Amino acid sequence: MASVKVNRSLCSICGKVPSLSFCVGCQRVFCTDHVEQHRLELSTLLDKIILEHGQCKQTIIQYTEESNSHPLMKQINEWEKQSIEKIQQVAVDARKQVLNAFAYFASNAITTIKNLTEELTKAQNEDNFFESDLKQWMDTLIKIKKELDKPPTINIRKGGTDVPFISKIMVSVSEIFEKSAGRISIKDEGKLIVNIGSNGYGTVRSKGEYSTGKHRFRFKIEHTSTHKWNLIGIVSKNSSLQATAYNTPTSFGWIANNFVCLNGKLFSDFNGYKSDIEKNDIIELFIDCNRHTIRLTNERTHYTHELTIDAALCPFPWQIQLGLYYAKDRIRLLWR
Ligand SMILES: [Zn+2]
Ligand SMILES: [Zn+2]
Repeated sequence: MASVKVNRSLCSICGKVPSLSFCVGCQRVFCTDHVEQHRLELSTLLDKIILEHGQCKQTIIQYTEESNSHPLMKQINEWEKQSIEKIQQVAVDARKQVLNAFAYFASNAITTIKNLTEELTKAQNEDNFFESDLKQWMDTLIKIKKELDKPPTINIRKGGTDVPFISKIMVSVSEIFEKSAGRISIKDEGKLIVNIGSNGYGTVRSKGEYSTGKHRFRFKIEHTSTHKWNLIGIVSKNSSLQATAYNTPTSFGWIANNFVCLNGKLFSDFNGYKSDIEKNDIIELFIDCNRHTIRLTNERTHYTHELTIDAALCPFPWQIQLGLYYAKDRIRLLWR
């Protein structure tokens, strides 16, 4: 703790003894006794932070090495367990039903067999049977044998596919906004950007960085002013974040006022670009690092526009960059 001597102020803890030390951290003054106490308070807090830090590190190691201990994994395991239990219960019930129905069927079959036994014994003893008798007995036996495997009174069928018995589990992975500059605020755990206060430029960038492959993102225009100014595009990670995305070097993207931003410069009517963004539209941004292109598509109108990025002007890695200007404008990043 850096301390300088000040005069005439009383200690901020006891309020009695004139203070000798000033803490630049909390801007308070302390007497000789209480400066020690204050120092102790600070070091106790530091100990707590060190403990918390160690626990964080431990948690990362645990989740990496024993992935099954992760809460998300537990959620999947729980779904798996419940689904299996559901199947097992239905199988138990179905077996019980078949057993009951088969017992009833079998008792009838036993009666038929008993009658046949009598007839066969009689025929053997009296030796008075003919071809027609043999055929009848054989037919009866064939029928019983066939029906034992597939009793005509019992049927098993699978349920309709319209309502799935077990709902499929799906994992969604999403980008988030992480850093902002200017009159813009990141909300909903990085999923929503909002222009705060009155009109004024604000910029956000994604947490993710992209250097290879193809990546697709969807945004919902939750609010846009009638004048329409929002920028959707990319920027090189190396370029420093500023509130005015449209003149940030390495910025490429589309603005809803019909301007295209190419390397931090604005062009109107570029390759026929004309924005048709309205409130509640869902806009797709497709980044193809391999082809060095980005593409904007309005899902409502299917209007699409592509820009080719000169990687010499906009070096990898790229980040998603969005900008807002008008008060209360909001854009939400959707799950993929
Ligand atoms: Zn004191
Ligand atoms: Zn202090």
